[in-house]
Order: sequence, then structure tokens, then C-alpha cells
Amino acid sequence: MTSVDAERFRAAASRFATGVTVITALDRGGEVCGMTVNSFVSVSLSPPTVLFLAKPGRTRTAIAASGRYGVNVLPDSAAALSSHFAGRGQARLDLRYESTDGLPRLPDCVAFFACSVVRQIDVGDHAMLVAEVTACDHRDSTPLVFFGSRYHHGAGEPALET
Ligand SMILES: Cc1cc2nc3c(=O)[nH]c(=O)nc-3n(C[C@H](O)[C@H](O)[C@H](O)COP(=O)(O)OP(=O)(O)OC[C@H]3O[C@@H](n4cnc5c(N)ncnc54)[C@H](O)[C@@H]3O)c2cc1C
Repeated sequence: MTSVDAERFRAAASRFATGVTVITALDRGGEVCGMTVNSFVSVSLSPPTVLFLAKPGRTRTAIAASGRYGVNVLPDSAAALSSHFAGRGQARLDLRYESTDGLPRLPDCVAFFACSVVRQIDVGDHAMLVAEVTACDHRDSTPLVFFGSRYHHGAGEPALET
């Protein structure tokens, strides 16, 4: 097998543009925890299924205990929120949460998915957490985009064809 230089791999992978989500969960004590994630994927329509990849940490531990997570798709005004939930935040944020289907959600997200884990697949030190969607909603606003290791506004001219 060829060995690929880690920096080269990182740089190439960063050219895949994604949205940005905050995964929220309740820990054993009922406290909200969350982490920034861009590995979120919608998998199947029937049953409605999604997944994301989680490294070990507080949020993954909470999800393992409850079997549930919420996916908050961030609007383009939420770069500071994304940095905060990646453990990189500088600003002190006044956070409040709403609730959908028993899961904490951030106000003003572009879309929200309430999820119940149906399968865990371990990949290296990450776990792929496959989940069935038990509730979801969305609103028409511009998403935050992550590309080239930087945040971008999601607004742009629609492509000619999909
Ligand atoms: C664009 C981007 C995409 C990423 N994608 C992924 C990915 O797909 N998979 C992955 O594993 N990692 C990803 N990361 C890295 C991940 O966000 C961090 O490693 C994160 O710190 C892991 O969260 P944790 O719960 O394990 O750790 P923690 O350090 O416990 O939590 C992360 C941060 O959230 C804050 N926080 C948690 N709960 C609350 C709360 N209730 N109220 C206020 N603040 C709270 C903490 O203070 C901490 O600063 C991504 C990071 C970025 C910037």
C-alpha cells in the first residue's frame, strides 16, 4: 500500500466543501454537550437515516450513554459558534437551547435532525454513528460552509444544473 503524506492528504481533503453542524446531546447528568462536526451525511430516505464520525470525547461519551443526538445545521452567521464547539472559541458566548423530541437544539439553525443511534462502526479512533431520524425541520436561510480549512458564506449563484 502507498503511504500518503499527511499534510498532502489534509490539504486535498480540505478541498471538499461541506456545511457545518453542531452535534448536541445530553450527558448522564442531563447537561447539554456539543461538538462541531462536518462529517455529517444523509444516508437513506427509507428509513430516514444519517451518520457522522465522532472522535473520542465528552459528546461521544454522552451519545453512547443515551443513544441519541441532535444535528444543528449552522447558518452563515454562526462561525463563532462553530469555533466554540470545536474547543477553539475566543469569544464568551451566551448560549441557550431549545428542545425538539427530547434533544437540545440551538436557536436559528438552518435545519435540525433529532436522531436515535441504530449502529456504530469503529474506524480507527473515530466511530461512525449511524442513526434513524425521529424528527426534523428546516428554514430558508444561508448555511455556513467550510472549505480550504476556512469558513465561507453559503450564499452564491445556483449552479446551472443539479
Ligand atoms: C469545521 C470543523 C469540523 C469538525 N468536524 C469533526 C467531525 O466530523 N468529527 C469529529 O470528531 N470532530 C470534528 N471536529 C473537531 C471537534 O469539533 C472538536 O474536537 C471538539 O472539541 C470535540 O468535542 P468534544 O465533545 O469531544 O469535546 P469538548 O472539548 O468537551 O467540547 C467541545 C467544545 O464545546 C464546548 N461545549 C460543549 N458543551 C457545551 C455546552 N453545553 N455549552 C457550552 N459549550 C459547550 C466546550 O466548552 C468545548 O469548547 C471538527 C472541527 C471543526 C472546526
